[in-house]
Amino acid sequence: MLYRKNIKTGEDISILGFGAMRMPTLEDGTIDKQPSQQMVNYCLEHGVNYFDTAIPYHGGQSEAFLGEALQDVRKDVYIATKMLHNNINTYDDMEKMFAQQLKNLRTDYIDYYMVHGFVNAKLWHRLKAFGFADFVKKYKASGAIHRIGFSAHMSFPDFKEVLDDFDWDFAQMQYNYIDEDIQVSSKGLAYAQAKGIPLIVMEPIRGGLLTTINDEIKAIFDKAREKKTPAAWALRWVWNHPGFLTVLSGMSTLEQVKQNIETASVALPNSMTADDMLIINEAIAAFKSKIVVPCTQCGYCMPCPYGVRIPAIFESYNLYYILSETRGKRWYYVMTSGMMGGKGEASLCEECGVCESKCPQGIHIIDELKNAKAILAPDETRESVI
Ligand code: SF4
Ligand code: SF4
Repeated sequence: MLYRKNIKTGEDISILGFGAMRMPTLEDGTIDKQPSQQMVNYCLEHGVNYFDTAIPYHGGQSEAFLGEALQDVRKDVYIATKMLHNNINTYDDMEKMFAQQLKNLRTDYIDYYMVHGFVNAKLWHRLKAFGFADFVKKYKASGAIHRIGFSAHMSFPDFKEVLDDFDWDFAQMQYNYIDEDIQVSSKGLAYAQAKGIPLIVMEPIRGGLLTTINDEIKAIFDKAREKKTPAAWALRWVWNHPGFLTVLSGMSTLEQVKQNIETASVALPNSMTADDMLIINEAIAAFKSKIVVPCTQCGYCMPCPYGVRIPAIFESYNLYYILSETRGKRWYYVMTSGMMGGKGEASLCEECGVCESKCPQGIHIIDELKNAKAILAPDETRESVI
């Protein structure tokens, strides 16, 4: 296992982090503890020291599972979990939630505590108003929170706004070879690096989708001298960037754990060969040729006075064609149904036109929202996409 140093604290963190959100399950949907524990044990034996969980993972069971699985090695690992900001409406809500999380995780401190999944800066300002700074001060002073951060599914301008508005110890962003220009994007990576804020990567394999490549991409990867699995291509591409502290992978089988650990043993920063870079850039170009709306997720069109989440809708719309229908519909549902704080569906558009004049890409937003809505939001698919 390779490690990277937290530039703020000096901690050595394994470059592969265990994401406890896609572990094996039984038929009734509960975590299948025996193979899941086997995966955790294999990680521990092979040097993984960063474990990430959150309240909603596995229907609320993930934290408790991880607490039990890591109880004998607590002092040797870093545990990350998240404040569900949608459920916070008072200062006391923060304290109650945190107390329950400590209990779930069988610990009296969280190494990396973060606010879960801001989709815009407005949600940060809402949380801040409940006394977030006092909460952090109190629990950092008591030693119950070691590092405070936030995870982001938002545009670069919103990310920058949140990053600049608090004394964060770290941040977490989505990054993979098809999302270089999406959400926080490479701009956010450069900005956080310049500020000296460590970054953690989520979705390096796009929820597993970059392992289910089509024949066109497979043919491109097959040209490489050194053969790699699709997952290894995706992970190596992220690890090739020196600016990231650790990369989370939500692994579902012991075999995936073994393969990712093997990849992590050689993935030094800037270690991809010129041949590898040519191949992966060709694959990226093939993926990007399927993009239907040239939205760069810049966020300049926002906020929409009627609450339409324009960038997220176009991201889902492109995913529908780049990856799969299911992935596009699922992401649309996640980002617009209210799960991430406030609805933002395309059907909310009142065609006021405010957004169109602000879009640097000249996208006909009103028309494209109608197109996106037609394929992403038919009511009868809602139940089946989640
Ligand atoms: S045109 Fe539609 S999406 Fe654009 S700002 Fe107006 S209501 Fe929002
Ligand atoms: S629609 Fe245009 S302005 Fe809005 S995020 Fe996309 S590229 Fe930026």
